[in-house]
Amino acid sequence: MLTNLKPQPADKILALVQMYKDDPRETKIDLGVGVYKNAEGVTPVMRAVKAAERRILESQETKAYTSLAGDPAFSSAMRKLILADSVDAGRVAAVATPGGTGAVRQGLELMQYADRASTIWISNPTWPNHPSIIKYLGVPMREYRYFDSETRGVDFAGMMDDLKDVKSGDLVLLHGCCHNPTGANLTAEQWDAVVELLERTGAVPFVDIAYQGFGDGLEEDGYGTRLLASKLPEMIIAASCSKNFGVYRERTGLLMAIAPEEKSKASAQATLAFLNRQNYSFPPDHGARVVTTILDDAELRADWQAELEDVRAGMLKLRTQLADALRQRTNSDQFDFIADHRGMFSRLGATPEQVVEMREKFAIYMVGDSRMNIAGLNEATVPILADAIAATGV
Ligand code: PMP
Repeated sequence: MLTNLKPQPADKILALVQMYKDDPRETKIDLGVGVYKNAEGVTPVMRAVKAAERRILESQETKAYTSLAGDPAFSSAMRKLILADSVDAGRVAAVATPGGTGAVRQGLELMQYADRASTIWISNPTWPNHPSIIKYLGVPMREYRYFDSETRGVDFAGMMDDLKDVKSGDLVLLHGCCHNPTGANLTAEQWDAVVELLERTGAVPFVDIAYQGFGDGLEEDGYGTRLLASKLPEMIIAASCSKNFGVYRERTGLLMAIAPEEKSKASAQATLAFLNRQNYSFPPDHGARVVTTILDDAELRADWQAELEDVRAGMLKLRTQLADALRQRTNSDQFDFIADHRGMFSRLGATPEQVVEMREKFAIYMVGDSRMNIAGLNEATVPILADAIAATGV
């Protein structure tokens, strides 16, 4: 049996990590993998996470199973964080999942379970795991234009033009905030137009929100998701706590399904629990418990928000510094988009050859599509990157 297996193509980002590790140059800069790093290049455990873990260590008396949907207190705390009061809680089914990836996967399985014929529309480009999981599950998929490679902003006209072909019951995958890999995001008016399109066509939004608090702020980053939830009868939301709580390896995520009324919510809830059962039975609990402990405690929550705000402000500062440095070096405003983008990533718009040149000549590592992790920079490396970009003629 095992002899039938063929080698899988290597994950490009993980291969890049290895190349970076093997590079002996001291000046090397890692803008590849999508993990937050502080100015020292460390991905810290957040203060509130440490404090919550201490409390759990002291007070937890059992490690017995939770429920198939995970701890309801986690679902409730996360629903409030993401949706605030945009939708009646009685319409929201929710299950804990292993990370945001698990939530995406379970959301797609839910969709297939409900209607095998519907198509999911994804932005071009998007996080590569989206098309990868969609293809693996055999879900019909189409792409919509998203990124304007001239302005490095959203190609909104192209997006709306492509989405005019959606059918009732199709799903449209949208990034709630901080679009990965581009960093280009919808404006409030554009979100309005998306709502109008979904209302008119009967297509269902599938929001992936993995960076709430990394863009314009916790509330601001929930804007699009909350707007959709307040206006549309049905919606799927896959959320990740990996970045905003820094609990990457704990695998902490939530899948929510908003139903038109309470009766269909009950069926959605039962189906989500059933799908968890088929895939892994009980979802991981530790990260979810840490997140719930923080969100439900005023002091821990305030400290978490303060630290998250520092993380966000730090990345914004690096964006401004890089855009300014490139203004000076190129005598133009063509890189101002870096300061306009939000979240951890920006797509620079370099050719694959230029990406290789920056790696070989300047030891700067970015993903092949020229996605840069802004958190991989610090004040000292911004000028080095700006020099390299200018010298490469991006
Ligand atoms: N969605 C997007 C857009 C992401 O960038 C990520 C993380 N790279 C995830 C979901 C899932 O993250 P995780 O499974 O680590 O929680």
